[in-house]
Amino acid sequence: MRVQVPPPAPQRGTRRMAVLNWQCPYCGTFTTINDGDETNTAAPLNGRSRIENAHLFVQSISCPNPKCGKLTVDVEIANSKRYPNGSLEKQRSILRQRLMPEGNVMPLPDVVPEAIRKTYREAVLVQPISGAASAALSRRCLQGVLRDFFQIPQNRRGELGAELAFVKDQINTQIWDDIQAVRAVGDIGAHMDKNIDYIVDVEPKEAALLIGLLEELFKVWYIERERRVEQSGLLKALLTDKRHLQKEAKEAGKVAAPMTSFPDHSSSK
Ligand SMILES: [Zn+2]
Repeated sequence: MRVQVPPPAPQRGTRRMAVLNWQCPYCGTFTTINDGDETNTAAPLNGRSRIENAHLFVQSISCPNPKCGKLTVDVEIANSKRYPNGSLEKQRSILRQRLMPEGNVMPLPDVVPEAIRKTYREAVLVQPISGAASAALSRRCLQGVLRDFFQIPQNRRGELGAELAFVKDQINTQIWDDIQAVRAVGDIGAHMDKNIDYIVDVEPKEAALLIGLLEELFKVWYIERERRVEQSGLLKALLTDKRHLQKEAKEAGKVAAPMTSFPDHSSSK
């Protein structure tokens, strides 16, 4: 999953509506951005180019989640129209880019080990420049994920192929096929230097597909496991609470029973 780029910076005037359902690229929280959390500015660019009235628009947003509070910065170059009242209207977008956080890196939960996060992040950042390097990093990241998530014992660790065979029956067929593709394309990236007579390059677009699969694995394995653990904790807490209430009710029943003529059910389940 790619993090959504927020809607364009302000049009005419200085006030604007709150950004609804904005997703923080750091913590992944969906939230509403209010005036104080967001700053929009526009700087004029040199006027002699073919771009009519070009401006650099900068939008910065501080995540309102108190546990996060990180800054996201998007920049956009667009030609624009200046109105007599001084307001600026964006006409046509020429370039739009996220400046911070760097790259289109998916926020990962803390349960994903740091080494895996680092390799994933590098695979994303290098992808526009070198498809082969990115694919090789994705392959390494895949191996790290398999070892960590399936707790592959030390004596079974070695070649990616052998490790995959070890966990095959725990992986669904669709994901299994996708993993084979990451492995094969990653091999091409990882071993480019060994087969200089038969160089097969990996296009950045192809490398992006491998990153997409890694992100899918993070979702279906780590994030889903987190969600299940959390839900099962909630269910356990609910059960404890109900049992406690049941016990209290029984005890109250025991005390109340002699004062009424109703039969005593306190020992029934
Ligand atoms: Zn955040």
